[in-house]
Amino acid sequence: MNHKVATLLFCLLTMPAAYPQADAPATEDEQRSEAPPLSLAELDALMDEESEDDEIAAVIGEQVVDLLALSAFLCLALVSFFHKGTALKYVTMIVSILYLGFLRSNLVSVVNIFGLLEWNFPLFKYNLSWYLLIVFTVVTTVLWGRLYCGRICSFGALTQLLDRILPSSFRFELPTWVDSRAIYLKYALLGAAVLYFLVTHDNRIYRYIEPFWMFTLSGTTLMWVLLGILLLTTVFIRNFYCRYLCPLGAALGLISNLTVLRIKRWGECDSCKICEKACEWGAIQGPRILVTECVRCDDCEKLYRDEKKCPHWLLIKKAAAPREDPSLTQIESMEVSR
Ligand code: SF4
Ligand code: SF4
Ligand code: SF4
Repeated sequence: MNHKVATLLFCLLTMPAAYPQADAPATEDEQRSEAPPLSLAELDALMDEESEDDEIAAVIGEQVVDLLALSAFLCLALVSFFHKGTALKYVTMIVSILYLGFLRSNLVSVVNIFGLLEWNFPLFKYNLSWYLLIVFTVVTTVLWGRLYCGRICSFGALTQLLDRILPSSFRFELPTWVDSRAIYLKYALLGAAVLYFLVTHDNRIYRYIEPFWMFTLSGTTLMWVLLGILLLTTVFIRNFYCRYLCPLGAALGLISNLTVLRIKRWGECDSCKICEKACEWGAIQGPRILVTECVRCDDCEKLYRDEKKCPHWLLIKKAAAPREDPSLTQIESMEVSR
C-alpha cells in the first residue's frame, strides 16, 4: 500500500516536466522527434525527386547557350520585321544561313508535320530550343503571316540573297496563268507527302522533297544532283522552290489563313498596280493580297508608306498643294496611265 502511494506521488510530481504544457507550442526539434519515421519507399521517392531536380537543372544548363543564341536570332528577326530596313533584313538572312542553317542545321520541316500527325513530339526538357522555334513559327504565322519564310528559314534566305546577287537579266517571270496554277503544286506535294507517310510511316521522304539537309552537307549523289537542278532553276525563276514546291511553305500558307494582323491596303490599291509589280512572290492580285503566298518581305509595306511613290499619299498632297506644286505633273501622269 505504501509502495502504491509513493508511485502515485512520484507521477504527480513529474508529470509537468514529462509532457509539454497544452498552451506552449512544440519546438522544431520536438516536432521532428514526434514525426513518424519515413519508410524506405518514402526515402527512396524523396531521393529520386532530388536527383530528378538536379538532372533537370543539368539538362537545362546544357541548353542555355543554344537557347540564348536562338532567342537572340529570333529577336533580331522581329526587330528587322518591325524596322522594315533593307540592310537589317539582309543581316537577318545572312545570320539565318550561317547560324540556323550551317551551325544548328535544325530548321522547321515537313517531318514536324509527320510528328504532329502521329502525336509524337521530342521530349520537352531535352529540346527546349526546338520547342521555342516551333512556337515562334506558329505564333508569328497566326499574328502576321509567313514571317518564318521571309526571315527565319535558311533556304528561303539563301534563295532571296541569290536573287539579289545574280543579274536580273538571267531571270524570267512565268506567265500569270502558269504562275497562278503552279502555286498549288506545293499543296499537292504536301498532300502527297502526308498520304505517303500515313500509309508507310516512313518519314525519310523529306530528303527528296525538302532541300534543308544541304546545310548538314551530307547527302547522297541523287540528293546533290536534285539540289543542283533546284538551285539552277532558282537562278532563272526567282524563289522557285518556295513559290511552287515547298510543302512546309504550303502548310504555313494554310495556317496564314488565320493571320490576324494583315497588311493594310488603301482605297487606291483597287486600281494601282505598283505593289503588284513589286511583289516578288506573286502574292498580290489586284487589290487583294494572297495571305497564303505572302512572306511578309516588306516590299509592298514600304511602298504603302512611301509618300513619294504611293498614289494614296500623292493624291493627298495634290488635294492640299497649290496648282504650281511640281509633284502635280507626276500625279497627273499616273492618273492618265491607269
Ligand atoms: S517556302 Fe519553304 S523553303 Fe521557302 S522560305 Fe518557306 S519554309 Fe523555307
Ligand atoms: S503603291 Fe500605294 S496605292 Fe499603289 S498598290 Fe501600293 S499601297 Fe496601294
Ligand atoms: S510584297 Fe507584300 S504581298 Fe508580296 S510577299 Fe512582300 S509583303 Fe507579301
